[in-house]
Parts: sequence; structure tokens; C-alpha cells
Amino acid sequence: METQVTAPPSQTQTTPAPENTSEPSARILRELREDGICVLTFNRPNSSANVFDRATLLELSEHLDCLNRAPAPKGVVFTSAKSSVFIAGADLHAISESARDENLRQLIELGQNVFNKIEQLGIPTVAAIHGACLGGGYELSLACDYRIASPEKVTKIGLPETQLGILPAWGGSTRLPRLIGLPKALDIILAGKTLAARQALRLGLIDELVPKEYQIAKACKLILTRGRALRQKNWKSAVLANPLLGRALARYLHPKILRKTRGHYPAVLKALEVVTQGVGKPLAKSLELERNAILELAQTEACKNLIRIFLLQERAKKITGLPYKPLEATPQDKPIKNVAVIGAGVMGAGIAQWASARGSKVVLKDINAEQVGKGMATIAQIYKQGVKRHAMTPVEARSGMDRVSPAPSDVPLGNLDLVIEAAVEKMDLKKQIFRNLDAQVAPDAILATNTSALSVTELAQSTSHPERVLGIHFFNPVHRMQLVEVIVTPITSAEAVRRSVKYVQQIGKLPVVVKDSPGFLVNRILMPYLIEAGHLFESGARIEDIDEAMLEFGMPMGPLRLIDEVGVDVAYHVAQTLASHYQARMSLPGVLAKMLEKGWLGRKSGQGFYLHDKKTKEGQINPLIDKLHEGTSCAGVPRDELRTRMVLLMVNEAARCLQEEIVMDAADVDFGMIMGTGFAPFLGGPLRFADYLGLTAVTEEMKRLAARGQTRFEPCGILLSLAAEGKSFYPTKKN
Ligand code: NAD
Repeated sequence: METQVTAPPSQTQTTPAPENTSEPSARILRELREDGICVLTFNRPNSSANVFDRATLLELSEHLDCLNRAPAPKGVVFTSAKSSVFIAGADLHAISESARDENLRQLIELGQNVFNKIEQLGIPTVAAIHGACLGGGYELSLACDYRIASPEKVTKIGLPETQLGILPAWGGSTRLPRLIGLPKALDIILAGKTLAARQALRLGLIDELVPKEYQIAKACKLILTRGRALRQKNWKSAVLANPLLGRALARYLHPKILRKTRGHYPAVLKALEVVTQGVGKPLAKSLELERNAILELAQTEACKNLIRIFLLQERAKKITGLPYKPLEATPQDKPIKNVAVIGAGVMGAGIAQWASARGSKVVLKDINAEQVGKGMATIAQIYKQGVKRHAMTPVEARSGMDRVSPAPSDVPLGNLDLVIEAAVEKMDLKKQIFRNLDAQVAPDAILATNTSALSVTELAQSTSHPERVLGIHFFNPVHRMQLVEVIVTPITSAEAVRRSVKYVQQIGKLPVVVKDSPGFLVNRILMPYLIEAGHLFESGARIEDIDEAMLEFGMPMGPLRLIDEVGVDVAYHVAQTLASHYQARMSLPGVLAKMLEKGWLGRKSGQGFYLHDKKTKEGQINPLIDKLHEGTSCAGVPRDELRTRMVLLMVNEAARCLQEEIVMDAADVDFGMIMGTGFAPFLGGPLRFADYLGLTAVTEEMKRLAARGQTRFEPCGILLSLAAEGKSFYPTKKN
């Protein structure tokens, strides 16, 4: 009896929503089994995920009240009816929308009270976790006596709040250190970590691994056999959650975090404060610390921007093509299953690995067997690293690898749904490849190029069916960068766009749809910034000052270091292509050509602006580079001024992209820059940042710089007109 997954309907009593919930459809189903155990199943209507909003918390609260009335069940199991989500966390719309008013305080108090109710139920409670169990979902689990989770890949457990500029405030910052000790809890909370089930088990976030299909039976058995003993205190963890250790860790970690975040991410420091102070306090006091902290953090620009970026990522998962609309009934497009990648170099191998790991069958082609062999070796290496990082099991890596078919000679291509060309960046060569493909593939196959900067329209015109040609532009390294630009020419068919966007989503990348134009979106905005860094260096500014100015701004790496990483040759060629289109606005600094002549290609040659050989300490500047200065006009210019120049050029180009409708809206521009270049996420992207500064101030500063004869600073039309009308890129919210 105890091992029955669910009792037959005639023997169970199921109760949908309590009578007084505000909405008619229940989010939680209450089932009283014959063995006396109550199962509460989260199942948000019309959604693939469960999230906690006010209505769900109220509904849960009422179910808990019902349980408290006699006769009490023998225990409660919390579970989900969704295939890949337990509870994904709080409804972030609710947090961002109510940041400034009393609603947020009420929402936080409500969550804390409801989870306290679970903790105080007086009967054993078990969370049966399968799928994403994040933020509020894991905080509910923390209030239970025992946590079991399925070992499947979809199960992800963690408290990612600090990545959204907030902290766990429904008891997570209070209960996790008490469960697993301060050091491990801080590691998870401060980094906003999400763990696979096995890692979560190792660290003590869950108590047992149980496959999804046996979870209810197992949870019931645990309740019936162990009862309240399920809530056993782990004394070892309790010892590691004391105020003395809290104070010591706070003193040790505070300066480290400050150095790392440069003060841009206040949530991390606040979480450190709350967690380390909370351990020494009674539960209610610690929860009060959580509450006050989240209310303070929710007001910060960083929090608003980080939540917005999260919501934009969710939007990217649902777009369907052009124009953007949320996922809705689209014609039955043929799904993409069979793919070929032409060119087995850095990008081709990366794309083939990624696509094969996510279920596509991939043919990998290059000019000869040797090149294909090199590509296969690269793919095997990426798989090996994936296994090492626990991103996949050895079996998954093996079957992914088996899905890649090396094609050292010509093979039939008639069964392909999509070809992604990633050969060397030469128009004539790419045209030849496309002409050959055009003659060989099926009529409904899509032909895509991964070109960095060549005209996709020109390439399309070299084929007999230009409507099926577009760009699918991955970023390097493919296995780390989530963004993919889907580049659409005036001739590309809506169907090709829809199918490509869907494919990009299917393999777990985030698409942004971009109109074909030189540099597309991300490189076009990034390049003026890199070029400016080159000009500043050439005119006497120090490398340390240029790169440090942008690190202080919040970029993940300085622009000159980035040129070294990308390769001076690659940066030079992309810059040259863009300079030929945009002329004075992107005129090339001489330093790149000089470095090319000397063979200083950056990391790949061991020498660029920095030294990159194994013997030298990371970050050491090339001692010979100063010989490439051409003037002194920027020597001694303060970092603020250097930063202003580099950032404003990005803002100007970003605004131009909007003006020319390269993408649909300002959010796309900002999303592309954050996901494609790591543009300071807490600032929300170049256009959001410009709004924050005020467009009048931005244009005035640009005019000041342009007045010195540097025409590239002249503000573009849309900036001038918005500033003149007192408007901004984003609508301003009235709070
Ligand atoms: P790469 O030099 O590493 O690889 C190019 C591969 O193409 C080589 O293996 C070469 O043998 C092969 N090739 C040459 N002619 C061919 C032909 N006729 N048929 C088939 N294969 C042929 O170059 P990469 O860095 O992988 O770049 C590939 C493409 O991706 C380029 O268009 C580049 O602009 C673009 N891209 C590069 C990056 C990057 O950071 N490397 C990022 C985004 C896009």
C-alpha cells in the first residue's frame, strides 16, 4: 500500500483550489491518500512552469490551514505535475513591478509566513523534487523536513537570487546555512549557484536521490516509517553555522567580494551581511534581516536591470521570427534534425559539437581529411571537457560524438534540413561553397552562414534560391556563448527565419533576429569601442588605463585585452570590413596593422598588447608595445575621460542600429550587447545606460567631443531627436 504511487481515484479524496481563491483555476491540487498522507501537487494552469506569485502563495497558505484542521494527515508531500519544473522560483514580474511600493513587502512577508507554516505543521513534510527547483521553490523545500530529488538532468537546485540583484528572502538565507553550514551556504548564495541533483546531494542541499516515478511512493514510505525523525539536525552543519564563524567569514570575504565586483553588485555584499549576521539570531530576526535587505536591493538600478535581462532571456526563448510575437500558432514548419557544418575550424567544430550534443545529426565537412580530422579532435576535446565539468555524462558525450559524421570527401547532402557554413572569411570562397550547396541540397533545406561581417545578402544572391539563405552567427567559444544572431536579408523567407529561430532555441541558444547590415548588431556596436581603444593607445594613453577604465565600468575584460583574445588579425579584418562601410566613424588605428606586420596576433602568437606565453605572469604588458605609440595627445588623460569616449561611441552606434531598425527594439540592442559581449549587465545595456545618464547629458557630451574635430562623436539622429523631445529609449515608469 505504501509503495503505491497514487491511490486509485475511488480511494483518494482530491481537492482543487480552496473555495475562496481569487482565480477559478487551481494552481495546487490537494490529494488525501488512503494511507493518510496528503500530496500537494503544484500545477499552474496554462503554463509549463510553476512559479510563486501572490495568488499561489495564498492558495498554498489555505491548503496548509486546511491541513491544520482535524483530522490532520500523517504527513505532507510537495510535488509538481510539470515535466521539467518543480517550482522555478518567484514570479519576477511581480518583484520588478512592485519594487517601489508596499506590495513587495507584503509579498515577501507572505512567502516567509507561508513557509514558516510548513515548518511548523507538526507533521512530517517531504519535498519531492523533479525539474527546476530554484529560488522560492528551493526555499519551500528548505522549510520541509526532508528533500528527495530525481537524478535526471532537468533537475536543477539552487538559489540564483544574487544573480538577479536580490537575495533569498523567503527563508533561504536563513535556513540554508543552518542546514549545510555557513561556508557551503555562502558559496551557493553569494555566487547564485544552480546545481545538478548529484552535486546538490553531495553538498547536503537534498537528502536522497529518487527517480521521478518512485518519488511519491518513497516520500510516503519515509513519512510512515520515520515520521518526525525525518527532521534530524545535522550537528556537523550546526557547528558550522555559528555567529563567531559568521563574523570571521564576513571579515574575510567582504574585501574579496568588493575587489571582484568592484561594488557593481550590491546584492552579493548584502547577502554576505544577512547570512553571516542571521546565523547568530533567532529565526524571526534572521527573516527580518532578509526582508529589509531585499526591499533595499529591489530599489537598486542593478536589480532592475538584472531582472530585466533575465526576462529578456525568457523572451528570446519564445520568439518565433519576424515580427516578434510571443509563441503562438504558427504553420507546421518542418523541424530541423539533420545538419551539415562546412568548415571544421574553431567555429565549425564548436557548432558541430554543440548541435550534436543537443540531438542533431551533424555532417562535418572541410577541404580535406586532415582538416576534418582536426575538427573531430576539437569536438572530442570539448566533449571531454564537458564530462570533466559534469555538464554531461560519459555516455551522453559518447552518443553526442556518435551523431557527428566526418565527411572527408563529397557525401550526398540531399537529406539535410540545414547547412551552416563556417569556412574562412572570404566572400569568393563562401560564394563558391553556397553555389555548390545550392545544387546539392533538398529544396526545403536552409543555407546559413556563420560569417562575422560579410554581406549575407550578397552571398544569398549567388544562389538560385536566395530566399532560403540567412546568417546564423554563433559567438566564440560556441559552448559558452548563449547568443546567436539570426541574420535576415530582404529576400529571406519568413519560413526560413521561423525555422532557423526555432532551431537555435531547440539547441538551447538565445536568438536575436537582426537585419543584414555590415557587422550585424553585436560586432557593429563593439567595433567602434575597440577601434577607439586603439586610437587612445596610439595617442599615448597607457594600456593599463584603457583596460582598467573599462573594467571599472563593469566590462568583463578591457578592450585591448579583448583584441588579444579575439586575435589581432581577426579584429583587424572585421574592423577593416566595417571601416569600408562606415568610413570616418570607424577609421582604423594604425597600431593594428603594425602589430600584424610584427606577427603580434595576441594570445594565439604569445604576444599582443600583453604577453601570453606560459612563462610570463598573466596580465603582463608587452614591453615593446610602447614603441607603437604615435603621439602624446592622450597621455595622462584621466580614466574617466577615456571611459566616456569608449562608452559613448558604443551608445552612438547602438542608437544608430535602432534608428536603422537593425533589430526590433531597444531591448534587443541591449540584450545582444550583454549576451554577446558581456556589456556590464547591471547597467542594462548601452541604451538603458544612456537613458539612465539622460539623453540630453549624453548628446551634450558627444557634441563637446565632436567639437574637438572628432566627428565620430557626433550624436546620431535618433539620439538628438529623443533628447530634444525630452524622451528616452525606454518608456519611463510612473511609480
Ligand atoms: P578557422 O580558420 O578556424 O576555420 C576555417 C575552416 O574552414 C578551416 O578548417 C578551413 O580548412 C576550412 N575551409 C576553407 N575553405 C573551405 C572550403 N572550401 N570548404 C570547406 N571548408 C573550408 O576559422 P573560424 O574562426 O572557425 O571562422 C569560420 C567562420 O566563422 C568565418 O566566417 C568567421 O568570420 C566566422 N566567425 C568566427 C569567429 C571567431 O571568433 N573565430 C566568431 C564568429 C564567427
